[in-house]
Amino acid sequence: MAEVYDLHCHSTASDGALSPTAVVQRAHQQGVTALALTDHDTTDGLAEAQCCAATTGIKLITGIELSTNWQNKCFHIVGLGINPAYPSLQEATRNLQNVRLERAEKIADKLAKKHITGAFDAVKKAAGSGMITRTHFADFLVSQHHVDSQQEAFDRYLAKGKPAYVATAWADLALAVSWITGSGGVAVLAHPLRYQLTASWMKRLLAAFKEAGGQGLEVITGRTNPDEIRVAANYAARFQLAGSTGSDFHSPANQWVELGRLAPLPSTVTPVWELFH
Ligand code: AMP
Ligand code: MN
Ligand code: MN
Ligand code: MN
Repeated sequence: MAEVYDLHCHSTASDGALSPTAVVQRAHQQGVTALALTDHDTTDGLAEAQCCAATTGIKLITGIELSTNWQNKCFHIVGLGINPAYPSLQEATRNLQNVRLERAEKIADKLAKKHITGAFDAVKKAAGSGMITRTHFADFLVSQHHVDSQQEAFDRYLAKGKPAYVATAWADLALAVSWITGSGGVAVLAHPLRYQLTASWMKRLLAAFKEAGGQGLEVITGRTNPDEIRVAANYAARFQLAGSTGSDFHSPANQWVELGRLAPLPSTVTPVWELFH
């Protein structure tokens, strides 16, 4: 039987609502047969996911979603089939954990200037041993009734240009790609149309990504429409990138995104799993 792939999702190791075990179980229930857990800047959920996948009978692909910078902008690079024990990758995730901790303090300071106090302690507690993300701040703002939804939290406080936004020095994009490929993984540019780049910027980005050793483009994500799929598939063909598919599932509370609920990859695209070995 053909595999059902979902190559992008999150657990409580970063900003997902479900534990790695619960993500794997839910994926299995949804008919996924090959799942990549790709938490933000951490591989800490992989051991638990691998353990659960073995008992559930689902194939787990070791993954990560690295936060990177290129030309002063932030881009997410998904690594698939990585070796979590690769020293450069381990060092990078340790650094990114500190970057995120320091950013969280700055975000909390900015919120305090807007008379919203207690954010740092709350997000630190909510993240536990996992990565602290803006999603944790969004949940805090909802819980304290400053906003009605995560989306509103981003729109009013956390998104770029809003009062609690903090510009962050993430990993250099080319370096991040080298950590992924050096550990034996395939580097995939995540949700390419979410960056709202002009066509000329997109082409420069893809050229730089390719040059760095990037091999895949996320052609299908949880909320892509047919037009977006066509655009992304065209970029994949033009830059000879394999196509990936992943829901970017975070939480059952988001009814619009579900594990494994993905449009098929266009037949013009080489599936990224053909690069797995
Ligand atoms: P961070 O990596 O800490 O900056 O957090 C980024 C995460 O916040 C993304 O992975 C999304 O899960 C979430 N996010 C970003 N923008 C929005 C938005 N406009 N609405 C809801 N969630 C968002
Ligand atoms: Mn996220
Ligand atoms: Mn992302
Ligand atoms: Mn993601």
